[in-house]
Amino acid sequence: MKNKILGYHGGGYSGCFWEPNFAYADKSGKIHDLYSSGRDGMFDKGKQIHEIKDLDCLQTYPITQKGVDKMLKDYREDFVVGIVKILIDKHGLELGVKCGKCNQIADPHDVTFESYKGDGGIGVIHDGVICPDCYSAGTCQKCEEYCGDLNSYGLCDYCQSEIEKNIPQVQILSEVISKGYDKLAEISKLNPKCAKKYNKQHDQACHDISKEIAELIEAEVNKM
Ligand SMILES: [Zn+2]
Ligand SMILES: [Zn+2]
Repeated sequence: MKNKILGYHGGGYSGCFWEPNFAYADKSGKIHDLYSSGRDGMFDKGKQIHEIKDLDCLQTYPITQKGVDKMLKDYREDFVVGIVKILIDKHGLELGVKCGKCNQIADPHDVTFESYKGDGGIGVIHDGVICPDCYSAGTCQKCEEYCGDLNSYGLCDYCQSEIEKNIPQVQILSEVISKGYDKLAEISKLNPKCAKKYNKQHDQACHDISKEIAELIEAEVNKM
């Protein structure tokens, strides 16, 4: 076996799930441990190359960007990012990881993760590779936290509503819009034909008021 990344089920610990383990077969066929753990971890137990075929759930990947892309689909993303870092730092390979948002190939040392969840034990699984460009594009201008999708002001929903709350005029205008909707619903019940006509005016009014609200918010955002 040459020029391959090997993934296999390392041992779990008692009462726990298995952990993904990785090794690397270089161009001469020499096997290097990348990460091994638990009772079946290859290098923990001093296993040798001829035993590799006996490794649990062995999967092999070419040392190419496509191979890494496939690994990201097969294993925990934070593990794969760590493995690619080792391949670069220790073995001098030129590889990157694909950003889950823009598909750009990024240096694994620079990426962050979109979310994290518990692993059923005390650990945390990080998921969703985010490249530096997507990270800064998705970071709220006000709270400076990564929120993913921001509105057109570059704010998260929470900061947007906080800003709105602090502009009295926006409060009043928003109320006008919501009262307009109530009125529209009332008219629709009483006279659907009339509601149709009113609806047009209402749409125009909402459009104008929303524009004014947007200007007020923008002025506030520009002050930040
Ligand atoms: Zn990206
Ligand atoms: Zn925010």
